[in-house]
Amino acid sequence: MRISEAQELIREIYGERDRRRGIKGTALHLGEELGELFRALRINDKDNLKEELADVLAWLLSLSDLLSINLDEAFSERYGGGCPKCGSIPCKCPEV
Ligand SMILES: [Mg+2]
Ligand SMILES: [Zn+2]
Repeated sequence: MRISEAQELIREIYGERDRRRGIKGTALHLGEELGELFRALRINDKDNLKEELADVLAWLLSLSDLLSINLDEAFSERYGGGCPKCGSIPCKCPEV
């Protein structure tokens, strides 16, 4: 599934309630899901890890949609040509 297809699917499933909740509330849910992902990492819950990664993406797609940003486009524009800073694939920036 392409990122744009995932964004359309999430819009079909949750678009109405996302719009009711608004940008700030949706951003908070994204933060909450990140917390769940970090917890799954901390306790090394591999089955749950997969779900939590999907949840983070779902909320990121909801937020992108509320902001009228096509994440497929945004991602391609930013990373399609390699590292946004050095322009290389793989990145040649100094590690910090
Ligand atoms: Mg979750
Ligand atoms: Zn780089």
